[in-house]
Amino acid sequence: MEPLLDRLGRPLETLRVSVTDRCNFRCVYCMPKEVFGRDYAFLERAQLLTLEEIARVVGIFAGLGVRTVRITGGEPLVRRNVEHLVALLNEIPELELALTTNGSLLPQKAGALARAGLDRVTVSLDSVDDATFRALNDADFPVQRVLDGIDAAADAGLRVKVNAVVKRGANDDGIVALAERFRGTGHVLRFIEYMDVGHTNGWRLDDVVSADEIVKTIGARWPLEPAGTHRPDETAKRWRYADGAGEIGVIASVTQPFCGGCSRARLSAEGKLYTCLFGVKGHDLRGPLRLGASDEELAELLRSVWGRRTDRYSELRTAETAALPKVEMSYIGG
Ligand code: SAM
Repeated sequence: MEPLLDRLGRPLETLRVSVTDRCNFRCVYCMPKEVFGRDYAFLERAQLLTLEEIARVVGIFAGLGVRTVRITGGEPLVRRNVEHLVALLNEIPELELALTTNGSLLPQKAGALARAGLDRVTVSLDSVDDATFRALNDADFPVQRVLDGIDAAADAGLRVKVNAVVKRGANDDGIVALAERFRGTGHVLRFIEYMDVGHTNGWRLDDVVSADEIVKTIGARWPLEPAGTHRPDETAKRWRYADGAGEIGVIASVTQPFCGGCSRARLSAEGKLYTCLFGVKGHDLRGPLRLGASDEELAELLRSVWGRRTDRYSELRTAETAALPKVEMSYIGG
């Protein structure tokens, strides 16, 4: 199969699928309560793609070269029967299936997800200090339940990564404790620079703890060395502990943006296709899907959207692009 390339020669390899815009956390930097309160207009059920519609679209993407699908949200585990979606996607040949979650529901769901065919999970966890974690998730959710979720996922046979967003003054004093907790567990811990997206209105560059600073902080405690070469589409720079206790990664989305190798498309819960995390406008797929478009017609639509893609917002970010409206992380799923 001829790889489908965008205008900058980037192939389409990964699809991130948001299955809901709702979440049981109110992380202060992502879904602050003042904005996502009782009156917030979340998507209605009829607006959401059904699990069968999602599976059909993913099958068409797979036919165009997508090899990894990541289920995200909102919180994907609050979507009813998400394990059925995993089972449907598992019928598509040669797809690696991953899911990004806050981990809160993993103790109940990890077994069913693994049995349905999920390969790996990424658990978002910004602090191992209970008070800091409760303050960040703003739902008074205890950190131990997320740690239990991580254990449940590993016990179910899922590969586990842990992602931590670092915001200065909020959780940067816990970087070493996070590293310590996951050293030697086999779970890769990745730190993510705090980005200017969605309701991080009021985001300031001063709030970003750079990947370099994070590596220095951890390296001062346990020496680190670069781990291997990187694929062009790899978002994280990997480092290994010199004492053999495993690896960490850092995702420098702000200080070293990496649009050059970006092979990711994003599908929102209501069926809009975005070709960039910072894209303002999505391309509607739900309309054609519900009007009876054939697989070939949908494939042609996807080919034309990807073929015209020129986005590289992270690299271009300027005063001009910073003023554009931003899509919510809880809508698009990161
Ligand atoms: N609920 C799931 C979870 O917690 O992983 C999936 C969706 S959540 C929007 C995906 C990721 O986006 C989380 O790791 C979250 O920390 C991250 N995120 C949200 N706002 C961010 C920001 N301003 N900068 C960097 N990462 C952010």
